[in-house]
Amino acid sequence: MELAHLNIGYCKGVGTKRADTLRKELHIETALDMLRVYPYKYTDRSRFYKIHEIEDEDTAVQIVGEILEWHTIGVGKGQRLSATFTDGLHQIELVWFRGVQYVKLEKHTPYLLFGKPSRFNHQYNFVHPELTPMAKVTPQMTQGLEPDYNTTDKMKSCGLNSKGVRTIIAGLMPQLKNGVPETMGQDVLDHYHLMGLTDALVNIHFPKDTATMQKARERLKFEELFFIQLQILKKKKRHEQNIGFPMPTVGRRFNRFYRECLPFELTNAQKRVVREIHGDMKSGHQMNRLLQGDVGSGKTLVALLCALLAADNGYQTCIMAPTEILANQHFQTLSAMLPPDIATIALLTGSTTKKQREPLHEALRDGRINILIGTHALIEDEVQFANLGLVIIDEQHRFGVAQRAKLWNKNLQPPHILVMTATPIPRTLAMTVYGDLQVSIIDELPPGRKPVHTLHYSIQRKASVNKFITQQIEQGRQIYVVFPLIKENEKLDLLDLQNGFNELCETFPNYRISMVHGQMKAKDKDEQMRRFVNGETQILVATTVIEVGVNVPNASVMIIENAERFGLSQLHQLRGRVGRGADQSYCLLLTKLELTADTRKRMDIMVATNDGFRIAEADLQLRGPGDMEGTLQSGTPFDLKIANLGTDGQILELARKAAGEILDKDPQLSDEFNRIYKRQLDLMRQTGENWGEIS
Ligand code: ADP
Ligand code: MG
Repeated sequence: MELAHLNIGYCKGVGTKRADTLRKELHIETALDMLRVYPYKYTDRSRFYKIHEIEDEDTAVQIVGEILEWHTIGVGKGQRLSATFTDGLHQIELVWFRGVQYVKLEKHTPYLLFGKPSRFNHQYNFVHPELTPMAKVTPQMTQGLEPDYNTTDKMKSCGLNSKGVRTIIAGLMPQLKNGVPETMGQDVLDHYHLMGLTDALVNIHFPKDTATMQKARERLKFEELFFIQLQILKKKKRHEQNIGFPMPTVGRRFNRFYRECLPFELTNAQKRVVREIHGDMKSGHQMNRLLQGDVGSGKTLVALLCALLAADNGYQTCIMAPTEILANQHFQTLSAMLPPDIATIALLTGSTTKKQREPLHEALRDGRINILIGTHALIEDEVQFANLGLVIIDEQHRFGVAQRAKLWNKNLQPPHILVMTATPIPRTLAMTVYGDLQVSIIDELPPGRKPVHTLHYSIQRKASVNKFITQQIEQGRQIYVVFPLIKENEKLDLLDLQNGFNELCETFPNYRISMVHGQMKAKDKDEQMRRFVNGETQILVATTVIEVGVNVPNASVMIIENAERFGLSQLHQLRGRVGRGADQSYCLLLTKLELTADTRKRMDIMVATNDGFRIAEADLQLRGPGDMEGTLQSGTPFDLKIANLGTDGQILELARKAAGEILDKDPQLSDEFNRIYKRQLDLMRQTGENWGEIS
């Protein structure tokens, strides 16, 4: 039977219970699914160690030798078995804590010992090693690279540890060698020098040698990225076909604002992206564009100019922000700049009262409001627009996919969509997660900005930090002090914050201090923020609620407590809150003294550069894409099985090129020789591996 149709429960060594577990834990239904579980590392079983050669605690080793003696310690449950093993030169201890009664040992019998050495009392030992009498060792056991598989606790509890998975997969090898259907066209395989699928699956599990294993990995990575790109580019092409509201006019509102109200000259980058966006808006096709610009690059103003263009053409715009603080701030900045006779602007958030809502809803429905700013309250069903033409989403990674989809559907015809993000997205990520969007980049900061000076202190040097705070406040500056907030431990974190606040109050009795955090009532939070924004308080103690978008130009110092607990992107976002005025700004990263190598790297990168793109790349390398801030939160299906967006950029470029060339010739994949791809995409849709629905 074909492996794709062979139920996993009928495979050798599986059975009902394990099949159930495999289905629940890894969504494995068939033998082919099982073969698509790839090893995460290999052990070289062709190498035999001597005891004195052991040095690496991480990988498993094998040694040939004999047992000299053994004895049990303790009784009943706490019983332990200890044996002395020798390779003829040296001795090493073997220990068993569990199943002691099942361990059968014999003297004067050569064994093959296999296991992971661990350290105990400055000596190596083996805990629960595999011992096989040499008489039973088959040539296959000590041949080439042995695969290791990640498994879950539930899998382990029914014998599906790495070895269990390996045994099942090994059992499928004879059938696999008869072949599985190829998923890629022969021309693509030839052109990119890729291994066939059957070969790749054999060699990913039981490789002949390292070079063949690499070729197998390459092929499977390419395939994985190729089908993602095929879905994304297909969607992009579909988007490009969408009819969009035509907005050709640059009219009175835009021109008057540009001539009379613009508080400063636009940067060249701002001018360019406004042109790019307007190009889409007037094209007759629906816009789906991502606007990237580092913190402080002036995206808000770009958003306003686009909204005015929409209004000039008779359409409404809504601007969504991820938090109420931000929505408020956008509303305040924009209404301060915008005379009401140019365009009307309104705010709608969770704290808008029922009484305020009714007239607002009405004004939206009859088109009196041109620009609506708000949080997700915006997407509640009762909010209806007369003619919503443009949706701008600020700091988009805070929005879930479902929430965005709701907005898409507010109209019969989808509005133009502009997604703005200040988290620079590394190219590999942009090509996958946002691969179906057009991209505009603001790569220039407004003139006169001095780069933020970043310093890293251990908390032992708190006294110098406090002295620095005093100096800055005496010069009229304001200070942010940020504490981490990690969801699992909210109570403890709030305690940290409260303690930090109390400490600051004691240290600086003459200064006024505000505090904001996510657990506060919106009203209290706004009041505290307002006092800081107006300069009534000198210090703002906060959690990461201030991470995104808050703009207080006079605040020139950002102090980040427990900086080791933040990711790079987050640190960069926080730093972006300062350096917005004319004064030299500072970011102080406070950490404990002892740091892991990774944390030290993060701090070093922050000190070394202000460039958001470099930081994002480093973040991707250090943390891996699954952890990238935002991708997790937005609920994107981010489970690559084998490719790694941090390190496989080159393969990704090729896979995207291959997918693009196929779709250019045959956008619907309807040609006979492209059926193979269409079938695979359909299959992926059925199994939920569908990247096409993310935006
Ligand atoms: P972000 O891109 O992080 O959202 P903002 O839109 O909040 O940045 O802009 C940051 C600051 O820069 C604001 O105070 C804004 O008024 C100011 N700004 C924006 N564009 C310019 C410009 N062309 N020249 C000078 N200042 C500008
Ligand atoms: Mg912003």
